[in-house]
Amino acid sequence: METIDLISLRNYTRRTGQPTHPELLDARPMEHVTKIEIDEEHVTIEYNEKTTRFYNVNEITKNEWIYKYNDDPEFVAAVAGVIDLARRHLKDVPENITCPPGCAECCSGYEPFVSRADVERIADHLGISYGQALRQYVVPRKSADGYYVGWLRKIGDDVADQCIFLMGDRSGRYYCGIYPARPNDCREFTPIGCHDVDTTLSHGRRFKVGPPFRPKHRRSKRHR
Ligand code: SF4
Ligand code: SF4
Repeated sequence: METIDLISLRNYTRRTGQPTHPELLDARPMEHVTKIEIDEEHVTIEYNEKTTRFYNVNEITKNEWIYKYNDDPEFVAAVAGVIDLARRHLKDVPENITCPPGCAECCSGYEPFVSRADVERIADHLGISYGQALRQYVVPRKSADGYYVGWLRKIGDDVADQCIFLMGDRSGRYYCGIYPARPNDCREFTPIGCHDVDTTLSHGRRFKVGPPFRPKHRRSKRHR
């Protein structure tokens, strides 16, 4: 039985190169969907399409039909599982989300996908060329829609290794070495299901960090 979870959906994107950016997904088939129901045996989708016909007067006819998917009960159960999980975690997310200073657990085990704009911003921030940033800090893998060019490298080959830009020491005081230029994926990261967030902390506090990440070899912008 194949298990679907929210993280492996990202891996699915990586494996297949399917579109990953919501704006680029073709959502047209969903335009007329009025209801989706999922139980142990069926995914039921109800469509409701309005057709306008002109015959002496304007007349509106409604076409309604139902699509039931039940060929593969395991698939249906897996989809239901994902939806349930998402619902449960949405309820879990506290209102006042604050990360404990220096935590950065998510900067290991999570690989931020980067767009061309992300890499350009990081290159500018580090004072290196786009090509150099791409070669040194990105594992190249274009998504089919061309939006993502790859994901940020880790310090090692293990998926649980730290992000190449993570700075700090083993005392648990980590920080992002390119914070002002970090990828959009990191900016928008939602700690769904993250047990480390602390709702008692204030949002206004400043966390003292060390020096920013510096590339080993800088190149003049003139040579780009
Ligand atoms: S999102 Fe979670 S793991 Fe990441 S820094 Fe915040 S508390 Fe830590
Ligand atoms: S770029 Fe910064 S915020 Fe993003 S994973 Fe790396 S260290 Fe963490």
